[in-house]
Amino acid sequence: MDKILNYINGEMLPPKKDQWLDNYNPSKGEVYSLIPDSDETDIEEALTHAELAFETWRLTSLEERFKVLNRIAELIDANNDMLAVAESMDQGKPVWLAKNEMIRSAQNFRFFATAAMQFASESHNMEGHAINYTLRQPIGVVGCISPWNLPLYLFTWKIAPALAAGNCVIAKPSEITPMTAFLLSEICREAGLPKGVLNIVHGLGPKVGNAMVSHPRIKAISFTGGTSTGKHIAAIAAPMFKKLSLELGGKNPNIIFADCDFDKALKTTVQSSFMNQGEICLCGSRILIERSIYNKFRDALIKEVAQMKVGDPLDKETKVGAIVSKMHFEKVLSYIELAKQEGGNILLGGTSLQMQGAHGAGWYIAPTIIENLAYDCRTNTEEIFGPVVTIIPFDTDAEALTIANCTEYGLASSIWTNNLTRAHKVAAGIQSGIVWINCWLLRDLRTPFGGVKQSGVGREGGWEAMKFFTEAKNVCIKL
Ligand code: NDP
Repeated sequence: MDKILNYINGEMLPPKKDQWLDNYNPSKGEVYSLIPDSDETDIEEALTHAELAFETWRLTSLEERFKVLNRIAELIDANNDMLAVAESMDQGKPVWLAKNEMIRSAQNFRFFATAAMQFASESHNMEGHAINYTLRQPIGVVGCISPWNLPLYLFTWKIAPALAAGNCVIAKPSEITPMTAFLLSEICREAGLPKGVLNIVHGLGPKVGNAMVSHPRIKAISFTGGTSTGKHIAAIAAPMFKKLSLELGGKNPNIIFADCDFDKALKTTVQSSFMNQGEICLCGSRILIERSIYNKFRDALIKEVAQMKVGDPLDKETKVGAIVSKMHFEKVLSYIELAKQEGGNILLGGTSLQMQGAHGAGWYIAPTIIENLAYDCRTNTEEIFGPVVTIIPFDTDAEALTIANCTEYGLASSIWTNNLTRAHKVAAGIQSGIVWINCWLLRDLRTPFGGVKQSGVGREGGWEAMKFFTEAKNVCIKL
């Protein structure tokens, strides 16, 4: 059985205690590799080397940092096919989607390599009395913890700005999807990233992740994952006054007004509902439809979604792949049962799917559309994070906002309308960190990314990320 290894001080190492975890291919429901079950001793070793490496990396010229991060981007691009197949097998996502995510992973490095060269800080002149300038210095050794849904895409989204800002990093991918993080280690070695600057330690969240969060010498944690894990991390980190960025769950509304471009709204809604099996934090899982077009939109949506091919992620025709793990598969199915108990009417799907042949033991769920639920029931307010959407009619803009804002989450939202005034008013009234108008998942990496309410604290992207990964120090000079 292939073994994934930790990447510590530039070397590929087994876990110190030689304990291993099973790594599953969800499309087949079978173990296909082993991953290190690392613990605090592996973190301690990574930290020792990272602290040493920091003494050099923080003083490395911006030009040098740019060059090596850019080389990593080039190597990710050069290995796009290999990485995409690995991601698809490890996560269950269609391979065409994984290819796009590998492009974005390279972009993350390229974008922040450039940011390192452009990052500047402020100066404040006190009219002949004094002058202030702000130093933005790297924090030290920081921790990056990422989830299983967009494995390499989100992993690199954290690592790249942390390194670009001059920090050394200990990073932990999700234990459920470790493969492309492992392959990234090899790429970093080939790119010539100095030893100890990036360390990737694999293992369980509550064990090795917890060791990172609770270690007093890991100065900041950038975390993306579930809201309950985020709360746990915040409780441990707060007494140490550790810098924290928390990107958490969502229950995003997708609001369809009668005056929208129907075909565009429909086409994009199919994607925003079921792309990556609905396992994207930005997916629109609650579709709010103005009552005058409710029946027409509902019927058209059912017709489109019924044609989506579910199955082998490596088949180029597949639109919806496998659910990432057995545990998550069971969680999603339990929410479909809950929806039935809450009075939901299953319009499409609602069941698991059994594939033939080699994929017979894989975890598949039919794209599911549910109506007739109260807007504030559990199915409509808790994150399901699978190929399940609910549809909800509304009559007025105010009612749409009430429904949209009724959950504890506030990550993203989409608004479909051709009325400019309405679009701006609803965008301003909606409680989410990101609003898309007549589009979805259109990303400019310079924009602030993050959620409000229980969807997180802090922002990623652009200068926000560079600021998070640096400490501002004001220097005041009396004239
Ligand atoms: P989890 O919170 O379960 O895990 C996220 C990461 O944290 C994993 O690497 C996990 O390791 C680790 N972890 C778990 N427990 C601890 C702990 N006690 N201390 C430190 N680390 C820990 O989330 P999922 O992986 O299930 O990801 C899905 C969630 O992520 C959804 O809620 C989704 O909305 C959210 N998400 C948010 C995004 C955003 O930008 N706001 C983007 C993408 C996803 P392990 O896997 O080994 O348990």
